[in-house]
Amino acid sequence: MASKPGVLTDWPWTPLGSFKYVVLAPWVVHSVYSFATKNGSERDNVSVLVLPFLLWRAIHNQIWISISRHRTAKGSNRIVDKSIDFEQVDRESNWDDQILLNGLLFYIGNIIVPGASHLPIWRTDGVVLTALIHAGPVEFLYYWLHRALHHHYLYSRYHSHHHSSIVTEPITSVIHPFAEHMSYFLLFAIPIVTTVLTGKTSLAALFGYISYIDLMNNMGHCNFELIPKWLFSIFPPLKYMMYTPSYHSLHHTQFRTNYSLFMPFYDYVYGTMDKSTDSLYEKTLEMEEESPSVVHLTHLTTPESIYHLPIGFASFASKPQISKWYLWLMWPVTFWSMFMTCLHGRTFVIERNTFGKLKLQSWAIPRYTIQFLFQWQREAISGLIEQAIIEAEARGTKGDEINRNGEIYIQRYPQLKVKVVDGSSLVVAVVLNSIPKGTTQVLLRGSLSKVAYSIASALCRRGIQVSTFYKIEYERLKLSTGYGSDLVLSRSYSEKVWLVGDGLSEQEQQKAPKGTLFIPYSQFPPKKARNDCLYHHTPAMLAPSALENLNSCERGLHPNHGRIHVDELGTQINKVGVVTVDEVDELAGEGGEMGVELGAEGVEGDEGAEVGYVGVGVEGGKEERGLVEPVGVGVDGVAEFWSWEMKSTLEREREREERRERESRHRNIEVEKSSGMSLGVAVGIDGPK
Ligand SMILES: [Zn+2]
Ligand SMILES: [Zn+2]
Repeated sequence: MASKPGVLTDWPWTPLGSFKYVVLAPWVVHSVYSFATKNGSERDNVSVLVLPFLLWRAIHNQIWISISRHRTAKGSNRIVDKSIDFEQVDRESNWDDQILLNGLLFYIGNIIVPGASHLPIWRTDGVVLTALIHAGPVEFLYYWLHRALHHHYLYSRYHSHHHSSIVTEPITSVIHPFAEHMSYFLLFAIPIVTTVLTGKTSLAALFGYISYIDLMNNMGHCNFELIPKWLFSIFPPLKYMMYTPSYHSLHHTQFRTNYSLFMPFYDYVYGTMDKSTDSLYEKTLEMEEESPSVVHLTHLTTPESIYHLPIGFASFASKPQISKWYLWLMWPVTFWSMFMTCLHGRTFVIERNTFGKLKLQSWAIPRYTIQFLFQWQREAISGLIEQAIIEAEARGTKGDEINRNGEIYIQRYPQLKVKVVDGSSLVVAVVLNSIPKGTTQVLLRGSLSKVAYSIASALCRRGIQVSTFYKIEYERLKLSTGYGSDLVLSRSYSEKVWLVGDGLSEQEQQKAPKGTLFIPYSQFPPKKARNDCLYHHTPAMLAPSALENLNSCERGLHPNHGRIHVDELGTQINKVGVVTVDEVDELAGEGGEMGVELGAEGVEGDEGAEVGYVGVGVEGGKEERGLVEPVGVGVDGVAEFWSWEMKSTLEREREREERRERESRHRNIEVEKSSGMSLGVAVGIDGPK
């Protein structure tokens, strides 16, 4: 928002919410109807092409958003190395408003402006005229309009809205108040209207010009440098005719320089060119890919999970466990992506966070959950993991100790310095600590994953009785855990705590007594079948405020991403980073000098979800919260990672409150509801869970 929003800030259709697209409906119906009912030369090719053109604009913008997020995560050629906050993601979520406006004005112009219909595909004179008018009057007028917008009167009412984004995303380019958009439209209408009125226009000039504006706008705000140097050396005047991403980025960090639209010419003429333009351009071009200190390996879950990736659509990424029916309409893209993942076969960067000095990256293995279940896929998947570990090592990720759960890779590469950490043990710890104190018996129902076996053994070790639904599960658990006496086959289903994994049916839920607490241990929660029971969120933990780039959390942190809050510093926490299943007890145990007690807070009840976190209870009354990243390949400076700044309880409490408030506003960051990407729990180590 601008600091003092002026008149006509909001879009006229804002009150319609997501129904805003209906404003186009009458026009679309009219154009399609007249195209279908008329014949031959009477048919107008312009009006019928408006809708496909608007769709193309939306896809074009989305491609830029995805590329930019992927590149930002990789870190090479990044211009402004800062993270984006929640507010910006929210503020920029209505980027399609200008496409709507553009559509309406196209339809209206098509009807009222003489000569704006029945256009030829191409006319050279019209294209040249458009280019000349753009380079001349449009760039010149924009330059002065832009400077006027930086006058404090207009800046505070309008233009500050655009400048609220210091670190830009491609789509920041079209984030302006409604009135400002109208003024830009008038400006860009000059070449369009001129060519239409002189009868020189064509489909290419019309749609090509708007696409050029989109291209330059997105590029200027994409926050990574991509224009190669050789382009300027083969044609030096290009410097005055085309800006670069770092050029406009300086306008967002310096405010008082680089006002030009797409052609820096007028900044040179009026002396407003930023002196650091060239050096920033060269510096960012040379910037190499980042060496992450921690790599979190994860994988795709379902073919549709690609839409929930942080680099995809923000609205899908924020609701990863919810599938929308209209995603079925995307099947050509889904199918294409499946084909590509098979073909590409390399892990790719999907997210980047920083935590203090640590740089964390999430890499996705291009394989779906189902593939992890196939024996014949195991070798290929292991190969991919192996490749990722080697790559992490090559990128300089170091560690001086290797955790036991990475045996295969360690045996094969004894010289590895990378520390391989299995994350499933922390999921186990979280689940164990979600069980209310004093519980003496639990029921375990769901597919028997590695996590399930570990939970069962840990519970038996503590003397808590574990019941199962089916004999086969009972036999398997008995065989695997070696505990007999604490394992029972449930007859009455009277247990009040149910630990549930994939495969729990609604009928099974009906057998639970009233008030039963369902605690999921898998990535996806069970479908709620009971109103008189409590459903815990999937294993998840909150990240501390020092973790940066959490905007992508909104776009989807993974449910078992393993961000947990553990209330202890020092060696114990250090250990958490490399905890193995056997150490869970130690980690979760009560008492003992360094005993870290993990306890769950926040049960999802009828009133809706509350983000839960694990924590509390530290010797000496200190209360601290921090982050534990359980899954990682390569942990350099683990101790540092865990030793966040000590803060007073009060301060922590306040932060927690603020965070909760923010989260309730941004329901989509509820970690447990997050990304369709499953966590790499266990993936990093021995393949499937
Ligand atoms: Zn500006
Ligand atoms: Zn800008």
